[in-house]
Amino acid sequence: MTAPAPLAELLQALAPPLEYLAADGFRRAEQTRLPLPALAERVRRARDAGPPGVTQALDELDGILARLAGEPAREREQLLRRAHALLPALRDAVTTWTDYRPSSGPVGPALAALAAPASGVRGVGPKRAADLERFGLKTVEDLLYHLPFRYEDRRALKALRALQPGEEATAVGEVSHVREARGGRRGRPVLEVVLRDADGILLLVWFHQIQYFKRRLTTGLRLVVHGKVEASGARRMIHPEIEVLAPDEDGAQAKIVPVYNKPTEMHPGAMRRIVHAAVAEHADRVPSALPPAVAARQRVVDVGRALRHVHAPPPEANLEGLATTDSLAHRSLIFDELFFLQLGLALRRSAAGEEPGRAFPASRRLVPALRKRLPFRPTAAQERVTTEIAADLARPHPMRRLLQGDVGSGKTLVALFAALAVIEEGAQAALMAPTELLAEQHLETVRPLVEPLGVEAVLLTGAVKGKARRAALAGLAAGRIALAVGTHALIQEGVAFADLGLAVVDEQHRFGVLQRAALQRQAAIDVLVMSATPIPRTLAMTLYGDLAVSTLDELPPGRTPITTELCRESKRDRVYVRVRDEVAAGHQAYIVYPLVEESEKTDLRAATTMVHELAAGPLAGLRLGLVHGRMKADAKDGVMRRFKAREFDVLVSTTVIEVGIDVANATAIVIEHAERFGLAQLHQLRGRVGRGQARSHCFLVAPDWTGADAWHRLSTLERSTDGFHIAEADLALRGPGDFLGTRQAGLPDFRVANLLRDTSLLRAARDEAIAWLAEDPRLERPESATLRTVLRHRWQGRLGLARVG
Ligand code: ADP
Ligand code: MG
Repeated sequence: MTAPAPLAELLQALAPPLEYLAADGFRRAEQTRLPLPALAERVRRARDAGPPGVTQALDELDGILARLAGEPAREREQLLRRAHALLPALRDAVTTWTDYRPSSGPVGPALAALAAPASGVRGVGPKRAADLERFGLKTVEDLLYHLPFRYEDRRALKALRALQPGEEATAVGEVSHVREARGGRRGRPVLEVVLRDADGILLLVWFHQIQYFKRRLTTGLRLVVHGKVEASGARRMIHPEIEVLAPDEDGAQAKIVPVYNKPTEMHPGAMRRIVHAAVAEHADRVPSALPPAVAARQRVVDVGRALRHVHAPPPEANLEGLATTDSLAHRSLIFDELFFLQLGLALRRSAAGEEPGRAFPASRRLVPALRKRLPFRPTAAQERVTTEIAADLARPHPMRRLLQGDVGSGKTLVALFAALAVIEEGAQAALMAPTELLAEQHLETVRPLVEPLGVEAVLLTGAVKGKARRAALAGLAAGRIALAVGTHALIQEGVAFADLGLAVVDEQHRFGVLQRAALQRQAAIDVLVMSATPIPRTLAMTLYGDLAVSTLDELPPGRTPITTELCRESKRDRVYVRVRDEVAAGHQAYIVYPLVEESEKTDLRAATTMVHELAAGPLAGLRLGLVHGRMKADAKDGVMRRFKAREFDVLVSTTVIEVGIDVANATAIVIEHAERFGLAQLHQLRGRVGRGQARSHCFLVAPDWTGADAWHRLSTLERSTDGFHIAEADLALRGPGDFLGTRQAGLPDFRVANLLRDTSLLRAARDEAIAWLAEDPRLERPESATLRTVLRHRWQGRLGLARVG
C-alpha cells in the first residue's frame, strides 16, 4: 500500500513541519519558512497520479501554498491551520484501495512454506521456538497472523527536558554515563545510564540483565528510548525499550511501533523483531486468492501488502484506523478470512443440498386432519416456517434446517406438521429431546394429537426396558410404528428403522455440534434442528452457516407476559412472601441456585443447605422438593415428576431445571445470584414459568453490593421478554465464546475477524461466497483453482467434503 507514491512523498515533506507547528498552537507560524516551490511541485505530481477521493483536498492545498507565498504574515497562521486540517484526508488516501494483485501460478509451495515451523524464521532458536509454541504460535503463518494488539505513536520525539512524569514517551539522546550501583531495595544491584541531549538528561534504570546492558550501552552511543517517565528525584525510565542508532542515523526518524501479545519471558522488542523477520521473509508468500472482481467490489488489497502495512505501518499511516482495526489493511485481512469461512460453509450446505434424497410432497391428508382437531389456529410465524420446511421436504435432497424460536413459540407443532408429511408418504420420523423427561413430555403432547389420525407414536428412552423396549424396536424395524420419540441416543445408538425419513433434533439451548455431525453421517435423511436459544444472526450465520434457518418470531396470542423484578438480597423476604402468595393461590414455584465457581461441591451445598434453611424459616410449612445435577438421572426425573404431580409446592434446584421441565402450574421463579448467569440463560430459566393461563413472576435476586454495570445488565430482563433482543445484548456483553459456553467445534478459528465487530464484512463475505458458488458450484473452473487450494489449507480437513479438489 505504498502507492500512490507521489502522495506519500508529498505527505513525507508536508506533514512534519505542519505537525511541528501544530504542536504549540502555530505560535511559530510567522518565523517558519516552508520550502514552498518544492511542496507545490509535489502537490502537482500527487494530483497527476490521481488517487481517488482527494482531488479536492489537493486543489485546496495548492491554493493555500500559492497564497502562503504572497500573503502578509498575519494571514499565514490561518492558512497553515487549514493545511494542517487537510492532513488526515491525505493520509487516508495514501492507504486507500488502489489495486489488487492476485497470486499467480500454483500456491501449493507457498502454503507449505507458511505451514513450516516458526523455528525457520530468522532469530528464532530452539528456546524461542518452544516459548512461541507454548504461546500458540507454531508456524510461520501463525507469526504472520499474530497482529499487533495496539500501536505506539513514536512519531513525535520529545526533548528530554520536556518529558513529563507519568507519560509514556519516546525520546532520543546520547549515553553520557554508565554506572552499576547497589541502589535497589536491600542493596540489589542496578544499572543506571544517563542519557543526554542538547539541554536535558534522563536516567535509564535496569534491575535485570545488568551485565548485558552494561556491555552494550557504551558512552557516546545514540539511543531512541521509549517507556514510562517516572520521577523520583531525577526523571527516569525503568526498563525502557531501546533502539541503538547507527552513527549516521537520524534519530528523528518517525515511527509507528506495533505492540504484540507475547510469551511473558520474551522482551517486547524481541517479539517485534521475530514477527518482522517473518513478515520480511514470508508476507509476500501468503496467497491472495480472492477473485479480482470480488477484491475490486469489496475494495480490498492483497494479503501480502495488508500484512506488511499492519505489522510495519509507514509513518504517514492513519494511526486511528490501525488502532481500531478499521484500516484498509485490517479490513482486507478480515474480509479474506471471512470469505473463506463462508465459502466453506456454503459448500458444506450445498453439498447436502445436492446429495440425492427423498422428496416428500405437501401433506394432503394428515396435516389438514390435524389442523381440524387443533383447539387453536397456528400463528402467522408457524404458518410461514411450515411453508419453508414443506418446500425443503418436497425437494429430492436432504433437508438441513434450523428452526429457532423462543420458549413457548410453538416449535413442537411445526415439527409435527413436518413429521406427518413424511409419515403420509409411508416413511418414519424421529423426534429427539435432550433429556429423557423432555422426551416423555413430548410424547405426552404428541400422542393425543396423532393417534386419532391413525399414526402410532412410541417412546424409546433408556427408561424403556424389557418387553416394552423390544416391542418398540420391533415396531420401528418393521415400519409399523411411524413416529419415535426419544433422546439423541435414538440416532447415536443406531436404532434400526424400516424407513427413517426425518429426524427432528430438539437441541434446546445446547449447541450439539457433535450430534449434528453424527446425524449428517446418516446421509440422506431430512434433518430439522430446533433451538430454543435465539441465536443472534451473526452467530447463526457461522455456527449454523451450513444450515438454512427458519425463525419463529411470534408467540401464540393470549399469553400473559411474565413480570420480572430485580431485587437486592436484603429485600429477599419480600420475595418469599410473594412465593407464599402464589402457593396459597394453588400455584407452584421454583427457587434456583447457581453453580458457584464451577465447583459441583459448592453448588450442591448451596441448594442442599438452602432447602433446609427455607424449610426451617421463610417457607416453613410448604412442601419443598430438591433437585440438582449430582443426583442420578432417575432420582432427578423422579423429583421432577412429583413436582409436576403437585406433590411439592416449591422446587429448590440448580440450573438442571433449565431444560428438563414443563409445569404449567408453576407461576413463580426465584433466581438467586442472578448476577452470575448470562442473560440468555436467565431468559431460559424464566421460560420455566408463564406456561399456563395464570400470570407468572420472575424474581432475580442479586447481592446488595452488585455494581451499577451488572445491575444494568440484569435490568435488560426487566425491560424485555424478547429472546432475540436479550441474546444480542448478551452476546455484545460477553462475547461469542462465553455466549456459547463451548468451543465452536468444527469451525476454523478466527485469526483476525471478530464476529461481534465485523458484522457487515461477514455479510459481504457471505454474499460474495454464495455468488461465486452460484457461478462455479464445485470450484472446478480454472479461475477457482487457487481458491480451492487455499480453501483446503484454511479448513485443514474440517470441511468434510470429498468434492472440493
Ligand atoms: P416450544 O417448544 O417452542 O417452546 P411448544 O411447542 O412446547 O413451544 O408450545 C408451547 C405451548 O403453546 C404448547 O402448549 C402448545 O400447545 C401451545 N401452542 C402452540 N402453538 C399455538 C398456537 N398457534 N396458539 C395457541 N397455542 C399454541
Ligand atoms: Mg419445545
